[in-house]
Amino acid sequence: MTNIYPPLEIPETLAAGPGPGNTDPRVLERFAKTGVADHMQADVLRGMKEAKFMLRDLWGTKNVYTYGVAGTGWTGLDCMQSLILPGDKVVCFVNGTFSSIDDLTIRMKASSLEDLAKDSLNPKPANVITVTVPHGESVSGEIVEKALAEHKPMWAFMAHWETGSGRINDIQGFSDACEKHDVMGLVDAVSSLGVADFSIDDYPGVAAWASCPQKGVLSLPLTYAPVSFTDKAIDVVKKRGCYTFVNHPILDARHWGIIDGKDVENPVYHQTHSCYAVAAFHEALRIILAYGKAAKAEAYAYHEKALREAVEAMGCKVTSNMTSLVVCNLPDSMQGKEKELVQGARADGFGIWPTLSEPVQIRIGILNQLSEEQITEIVSRFADRMLAMGADFDKAKVMAGLQSYYAKKAA
Ligand SMILES: *Cc1c(COP(=O)(O)O)cnc(C)c1O
Repeated sequence: MTNIYPPLEIPETLAAGPGPGNTDPRVLERFAKTGVADHMQADVLRGMKEAKFMLRDLWGTKNVYTYGVAGTGWTGLDCMQSLILPGDKVVCFVNGTFSSIDDLTIRMKASSLEDLAKDSLNPKPANVITVTVPHGESVSGEIVEKALAEHKPMWAFMAHWETGSGRINDIQGFSDACEKHDVMGLVDAVSSLGVADFSIDDYPGVAAWASCPQKGVLSLPLTYAPVSFTDKAIDVVKKRGCYTFVNHPILDARHWGIIDGKDVENPVYHQTHSCYAVAAFHEALRIILAYGKAAKAEAYAYHEKALREAVEAMGCKVTSNMTSLVVCNLPDSMQGKEKELVQGARADGFGIWPTLSEPVQIRIGILNQLSEEQITEIVSRFADRMLAMGADFDKAKVMAGLQSYYAKKAA
């Protein structure tokens, strides 16, 4: 017997985690108001070309191969990491959950058949060197320089902002070391694009970048993971090829009107792109560019500081330095209660997160929550949860402190 379930209702929650960010109503409106049109219809193709140009602006790059890969952050990363072929020597810098998964992907791609057969779900090819930096610390330029000088790999990988531990890694140091040792840098920019004020073209040591629809770009309704490749990276894949059709850095670009290294009038079919996704992604880019990259970065820093000071006033210890996310330890008396606290909050529609790998910490994010009202709501709900779990502080005092932070800056 077939069981037909009632229509799926998903409630509105307060998305206050590392991602996804709160989708802007304008993005959802574009999604819902778009008419059905096929993937070669003129306005769909125009939308893709315009999105491509806006993405180059947002990312500060002249890289022609800058476009979106249909899917989530990992899809864009898979496209970028497809540059790596079995046997390639790679140095990966890992300082949290996400760079660990990137490292796993890279080990899979760089594996020989023997490496895969030995441990197919967690291969350990000798040609991939993983440099692990402790959770809560950043990858520094010195660490990168030392490892590249020692190993002289073909590729180096680093996350720009490691969302697992909330740490910003040294992208300047990474790029400089890659340039110096003639290594092609690959960067996971999932959490930094749309939050940080940076331009790809300032980092010539980085050959390819991959980001995500649902973090700083704020276009969750399954849209596009931005990627950007230098001509040097594209030359490598042109000469050597790679083991994917759908996420192929050169072939995928055709549908965005990028062929033979040039923007062309007439795109070529690659896959059935969704008119809804194109319209939503296009709107998300319009929103960020209108806000301004620098203004947005400043707003994140300003509001993150407000949240950070408030959780510190509740006795938590913040160990992150990202501006879209606060990662903290609970006060000593509450250690061990992290997961229970997060579960309680989540059951209540307050979507904060624990860390996904050890040590267990709390993560509270502010993606698209850039107003005093929204931060106040997050602080108030977190304070209630903390008090319900036995924390010892005066909520009125914490809220007054937050109010005075905003009053002071406004003055
Ligand atoms: C979120 C995240 C990812 C994965 O993105 P998905 O959209 O879940 O596929 C990868 N890397 C970093 C640094 C992230 O923050």
